[in-house]
Amino acid sequence: MHAQIKLGRVFGVQIGLHYSWLIIAFLVTLSLVGQFHTTNPQWGAEVIWATAIFTALLFFAAIIAHELSHAAVAKARGLPVRSITLFALGGVAQIEKDAADPRTEFWMGIAGPVASVVIGLLCLALAIALGWRPPTMPQTPLSAMAMWLGVINIGLAVFNMIPGFPLDGGRVFRAIVWWITGDAARATRIAAGVGQLVAFGFIFWGILRFFNGAGFGGLWLAFIGWFLLDAARASAAQLGITETLRGLRVGDLMARDCPRVDGRDNLQTLVDEHLLPTGQRCFVVEEKGSVAGIITPHEVKSIARARWPYTTVDEVMQPLDRLHAVRSDTLVIEALETMGREDVNQLPVVNDGRLAGIISRGHILRTLQTRAELRV
Ligand SMILES: [Zn+2]
Repeated sequence: MHAQIKLGRVFGVQIGLHYSWLIIAFLVTLSLVGQFHTTNPQWGAEVIWATAIFTALLFFAAIIAHELSHAAVAKARGLPVRSITLFALGGVAQIEKDAADPRTEFWMGIAGPVASVVIGLLCLALAIALGWRPPTMPQTPLSAMAMWLGVINIGLAVFNMIPGFPLDGGRVFRAIVWWITGDAARATRIAAGVGQLVAFGFIFWGILRFFNGAGFGGLWLAFIGWFLLDAARASAAQLGITETLRGLRVGDLMARDCPRVDGRDNLQTLVDEHLLPTGQRCFVVEEKGSVAGIITPHEVKSIARARWPYTTVDEVMQPLDRLHAVRSDTLVIEALETMGREDVNQLPVVNDGRLAGIISRGHILRTLQTRAELRV
């Protein structure tokens, strides 16, 4: 989930919005307007809209606080956090590594819901301080705002604690199973299974409610279920990758015999004589007998085809000194994380200043496929 609108940094974490958030922000505001129209029609349209918009904005600030608490625990446990993005179904904190032990996973997972409950209770207390007397509806815009924020935040915490992976509750559940059995892979399988069960439950319940006349609300539930199903599968696959690659080092997978090309060749020659006939995707560029960089179809693509005969390889290659290199003994998982961070598909493997090989996403993928096929 990449943020398309960047809001700024909090504690070094980039906060952003995905376009889909605009739709949900609009729907939340609209449903609050409808709510206030029924409960407090005496306010008039301007007050109702202003209260709804402020409540919606504060709600999204509370979601950021929820995600920031996940991020704070991650950071405290030494896991780098890149960004927090709000999208149609809430927020997501991009944590660059998976937890290495169940305790970290547990505290990281539970921190968000705890933050939401605390915020929710504070809001309810504020609403009462502002004159709200349950079970009647709040009479002033401020107390109504506080009450709704209280209800929504506690609802958010409860929803998130459903033990279906990848919801927070699913992470906490996985951490507990991992803690008890000491088996991360098994914990993942169980949590992902429960996650899919929960997702099917949402879809089924949503469709049932839709046919019982709940309309949009029913479809929305089914949609959340469908999203959860997809996310449960994706995160199980992601964790499966982490587990398969655990302990493997770059030197085990890298290509040692990378084809070499001359930096003074033009791109047309590279394409005709190397790229197309060999099917290789990564070439080591040599200049005056030493390695100067690497070139892939990605760099070639950035130049217009008509310019290929007049552009030399060394003009467009990725120079070695600007590439993030890894060593043969770097863990494959770490190399994969580096590729994700730098947004590249391959990394040079350099030992003591000498290029030992290239590791690419392709190599890692082939290893995963082979292992999956042989079930080893
Ligand atoms: Zn959360």
